[in-house]
Amino acid sequence: MRIGIDFDNTIACYDELFHKVALEQGLINNLTPANKVAVRDHMRSRGQEADWTELQGVVYGKRMKEAAIFSGVLEFIAYAIERGDEVYIISHKTSHPVIGPRYDLHAAARQWIEQNLIWDKALLLPSEQIFFKPTREEKLAQIERCGCDLFIDDLPEVLTSAAFPRQTEAILFDPEGHHRLPDTLSFATWQEIMVYTGMDDS
Ligand SMILES: [Mg+2]
Repeated sequence: MRIGIDFDNTIACYDELFHKVALEQGLINNLTPANKVAVRDHMRSRGQEADWTELQGVVYGKRMKEAAIFSGVLEFIAYAIERGDEVYIISHKTSHPVIGPRYDLHAAARQWIEQNLIWDKALLLPSEQIFFKPTREEKLAQIERCGCDLFIDDLPEVLTSAAFPRQTEAILFDPEGHHRLPDTLSFATWQEIMVYTGMDDS
């Protein structure tokens, strides 16, 4: 089986980091809950759209190494490989932030992967199985090119796109239950995705 996985907010978790950096920069106060959507909504409600865009550049670039990994991702990928599946990371990510300092976002993400996607002291995925694409269209084309049987993403827009490959099963990763998609399977944890894909050995 070929399994494709999105990167930002599906493997890498930025909730705490957005909150931390926004607090440091005085963009929010302690009352804002420690998750990405709460930080974004708070800033938008105060007309700080440009600050929000710049904050994303800082979090995905300069501060990327502080991002967390979602619980269960490592086990999922390790078990998938162990049973003979092919696993790809396919992400839509621009090379540099839209505004603010020109951090190399692809390099930051690859470094994070080298430090975090470790299982039994070895890197789980070779770099040839990791794709960062500058546009959503190119991401969707890569999902097709990899022949994914399954693709896991936190963004409904990706999974419900007309360009999403017809032979690929879509799985929405939605830890906070933000969405309700009528025709798409949705899970809140990687542990649930493991059960669904038959990798649960408990
Ligand atoms: Mg994502």
